[in-house]
Amino acid sequence: MMTVRLPQLGGCVCGRVRYRLTAAPLLAYACHCHDCQKRSGSAFGLTVVVRSADVLFKGEMDLVRLPTPSGRNVEQNLCPTCRCRIYAQAAEARDFLSLRAGSLDQTDWVIPVVQTWTQSALPWALIPGVRHLPQEEFDFVALGREWQAWAPKFVTD
Ligand SMILES: [Zn+2]
Ligand SMILES: [Zn+2]
Repeated sequence: MMTVRLPQLGGCVCGRVRYRLTAAPLLAYACHCHDCQKRSGSAFGLTVVVRSADVLFKGEMDLVRLPTPSGRNVEQNLCPTCRCRIYAQAAEARDFLSLRAGSLDQTDWVIPVVQTWTQSALPWALIPGVRHLPQEEFDFVALGREWQAWAPKFVTD
C-alpha cells in the first residue's frame, strides 16, 4: 500500500498562497459538471475534501461566491495575483473544505473514489476503473468511508 507523508504541501502557481495539510484527507472525487470544466479550463474537476482545521494557509485569498449546479452556495478561494483556485467551501459546512487536487505539490496519491456528472463528461475523459455516480446520489459521509477504506496510508514524520 502507498504511504504518503504528512504534512502535504500545496499552493498556487505564483507561490503567493501556500498551505500545509497536516492530517489525512477525507475523500477524493472527480466531477465532470460544466462548472468544473469551466473553472479548471480542462475536462473535469478533481477535489480532495479535508477538515478545515487540518489545513494551515499562508497568504490572503480572494473569495468569490457562486452557486453550484446542484444549488449549493459555494465560496471559491483564489490567489489574488495568479488567480489560481485553491479551495472551495460551502457556507453551510465550514468544518470542511474542498482543495483543488492540482494545487497539491504531490498529486500521485489523489485517486478519485467516484466520478460524478458523467452525463456532461468529455467522452474520452471518463476515468477507467472509477465508478460513475449520479450526482443526486452523492453522499460525502458514505463516499468518505469508501475512499478511506482503500486510500493510501498517511503518516506524520
Ligand atoms: Zn498565485
Ligand atoms: Zn463539478
